[in-house]
Amino acid sequence: MLMPELIVKKRNGETLTGEEIKWMIDRYTDGVIPDYQMSAMLMAIYFNGMDKSETLELTQAMLYSGGTMDLSSVSGVKADKHSTGGVGDKTSLVLCPMVACCGVKMAKMSGRGLGHTGGTIDKLDSFPGFSSSLSDGEFLNIVDKVGFAIAGQTADLAPADKKLYALRDVTGTVDSRPLIVGSIMSKKLAAGADIIMLDVKCGSGSFMKSEEDAFKLASEMVEVGRMAGKKIAAVVTDMDEPLGNAVGNALEVKEAIAVLKGEYAGELLELCLVLGSNILLQAETVKTEAEARTSLLQSIKNGSALRKLAEFVRAQRGDDKAVFDTGLLPSAPVILEVPSVTGGFINHITADKIGLVSLFLGGGRTSKESVIDLSVGIVLMKKVGDRVSKGESIAAVHAPDRERGEEAAKMILECFDIASEKPEKLSFIKGVVN
Ligand code: URA
Repeated sequence: MLMPELIVKKRNGETLTGEEIKWMIDRYTDGVIPDYQMSAMLMAIYFNGMDKSETLELTQAMLYSGGTMDLSSVSGVKADKHSTGGVGDKTSLVLCPMVACCGVKMAKMSGRGLGHTGGTIDKLDSFPGFSSSLSDGEFLNIVDKVGFAIAGQTADLAPADKKLYALRDVTGTVDSRPLIVGSIMSKKLAAGADIIMLDVKCGSGSFMKSEEDAFKLASEMVEVGRMAGKKIAAVVTDMDEPLGNAVGNALEVKEAIAVLKGEYAGELLELCLVLGSNILLQAETVKTEAEARTSLLQSIKNGSALRKLAEFVRAQRGDDKAVFDTGLLPSAPVILEVPSVTGGFINHITADKIGLVSLFLGGGRTSKESVIDLSVGIVLMKKVGDRVSKGESIAAVHAPDRERGEEAAKMILECFDIASEKPEKLSFIKGVVN
C-alpha cells in the first residue's frame, strides 16, 4: 500500500477499507508515515467525512495502536466520563467525587487543553504538588481505595490518538466528526471501564456548533461503544456560553470546590446531576433517577464529596489543604473588572472567544512548549438572560500584569452581545442518547 494513493482515494470521496485504515494508523504511530502525509489525509477526512464502517475501523485501529488498561483488580463497577471539550468545563472535578461517594468507582483518563478548550489535567495542576502521571499500579490502587483517580493518558494507551490529537490541533482538523469519534472512543475503550458516560457539547464554545451535528456525534459514539460491549450513554449539552462563571485553571478549581461545598449551584451542578444519575442508573446502584439525584445531592449536603476530593488530591500527591482553603491555590496579581458600555440584557456570550481570552492571558498553550499560568482567567459576573446597567461589571479579568489585563478586558467586551429584550433561555440539557 502507498500513502499517496490512500490520500487520493479519500480526497476523491471514496471509502477506505479496514485494512487500509489499520495499515495507515499503524505506520503513522510507528513514525513511518510522516506528519505531512497524515496532515493531508486528515484534511481529506475533514472535507469528505467517513462512513460508519470507516469510523469503526478507525476507532479500532487507534484503540489497538497500544495497550489497554485492565481494571479487573478494582472491585465494583467502574465508570469513565468524557466531554467533547468546552470552555469553563470543570464538570469532572465535581462529578467524580459525587459519584464515588455513591458507590461507583471512576477510573478517569483526562487530557490537557485543546485549542480554545481547557483540559482537566491542567486544572488539577493548580493543587500544589499534584501528579497526573501515575503508573498503572498507582492508578488502579487509587481508584480502588479512594473511589476515583484522574490521570493523563499514558504513553501506551491509544498512542495513535496522542500523535493525531497534537497534529489535528495545528492543522485545522479538530472539528471533524469521525476524527472526534476515533479519538474519544479509542481512548475510552482502551481505558477499560464498564460504563462510559459522554458529555457532547454543542454551540459556539464546542467543536460541534449545531445541535444536529452534536446529536450525530453522540449517536455515533454510543453506537461504537455499544458494539464494543460497553454500557454507554451521551448527554448533549449547551456550550454556547461558558459553563458556570469561571474560565481558567485555578479559577475553575475554586468554582468546582464551591459547588462541592454547596455554595454554588446553577447549570454546573445540574449537569453533574444528569451525568451522575445516568452513571448510577447504568451501574444499577439505584432504581430511579429521583433516587440517584437524592444520593448525589446528599454527598454535597453531608460534606462527603468535598472530603472525597481532598482524599483524591492527597492520594495523587497534591496539597489537600487547598481543598478547604482555596487561598492556597494560585491567584493572579491583577484583577480588573470589565464595566458594560451599555445597558440591557445579556443576549449572547461567545464561548470560544472567551476561551481565546483565557489563552491570551496565558491560561492555555499557544505552542507545544508553552508553560501555562494557572492563576489567570475570567470570571463572568453576568450570564445570558441577566439584566445589566451601563457601567455595571460584566466580568473580572485575572491577569499576570495590568497591560495584559487591560487588553483582555477590551477583548471580553467583544464577547458579550447585549440586547434591549430579554432573550428566551433555551434548555441547557438538549437530550440524552442511550
Ligand atoms: N476530545 C478528545 O479527546 N478528542 C477530540 O477529538 C475532541 C475532544
